[in-house]
Amino acid sequence: MELLRSRRDLARLPARGAGQPALVLVPTMGALHAGHLSLVEQARAWGTVVVSIFVNPLQFGPGEDYSHYPRDLDRDLALLQPLDVAAVFAPDAADMFPQQDAVTVSPGPAAKFLCGASRPGHFQGVLTVVAKLLHLVQPQVAVFGRKDAQQCLVIAEMVRDLDFPVRLVDLPTVREPDGLAMSSRNAYLSIEERRRAGCLSEALQQARQALARGERRPDRLREILRSRLAAADQVEYAEVCRVPDLQVPHEATGHLLLAAAVRIGRTRLIDNLVVRVSATGIRDVPLLAAGDSES
Ligand code: AMP
Repeated sequence: MELLRSRRDLARLPARGAGQPALVLVPTMGALHAGHLSLVEQARAWGTVVVSIFVNPLQFGPGEDYSHYPRDLDRDLALLQPLDVAAVFAPDAADMFPQQDAVTVSPGPAAKFLCGASRPGHFQGVLTVVAKLLHLVQPQVAVFGRKDAQQCLVIAEMVRDLDFPVRLVDLPTVREPDGLAMSSRNAYLSIEERRRAGCLSEALQQARQALARGERRPDRLREILRSRLAAADQVEYAEVCRVPDLQVPHEATGHLLLAAAVRIGRTRLIDNLVVRVSATGIRDVPLLAAGDSES
């Protein structure tokens, strides 16, 4: 496993091109957990895996947790070592963003809602770093977690609208036994907060069950989500949205995102379920259509 600590080190990336396996990028901010590792393991099915580890300053707002976001490169490398990863790209912020007031990527319409509404500038920061990582590594495939569903959709809009030559794949969320989506930020929770954090996945499951029973009113589904999130200290949003445009539908059918963001103590947690609701029932589905990033 090659450790690449700067853009210059990318000269040591595995060869890509005719006759070579595809290069598959798994971007992360480190503090790796079983969710990240599952992305890496599945990424191998598409080719040679490169993992990036970079805590991106551009996607944190003022007062957010950039300075104390967990960082432990040695631990992350030890976790990746057994996973047949060809290279880890772990630059520092000065190497990635040496210019002040540099050019950024302005997100498209999917960034207006949900996290985009409550975290101004967040998706601009995400797109700027993802664009840069895609240019630097030039993977044929990039793998993302469905846990950050809106991020996947916002990146898919960029890839479509700016013609990035990359295929995007979104993979399922890995959860703790009680349903809590794994997240590097779960480490911030006290024991008591950790117990309450279970309400987030429970609320989404309750809304999914209501859909399975035939409930199609977005207002009613939103009420179910909100009522089950009573254990949270704050509900930032709890929504039923259409995929991929994230508009609230008149009727909850078709490709849907059930999504919520809450605060438990000082920790902000997000989670979602992606489903397809049709006359024959409800099933869990990816966000992006297999093989393209334009759905
Ligand atoms: P992060 O390090 O939080 O930026 O996440 C890096 C990648 O891992 C993103 O594509 C996330 O969506 C994905 N990810 C984070 N948590 C999970 C999880 N619990 N299950 C699957 N993927 C995840």
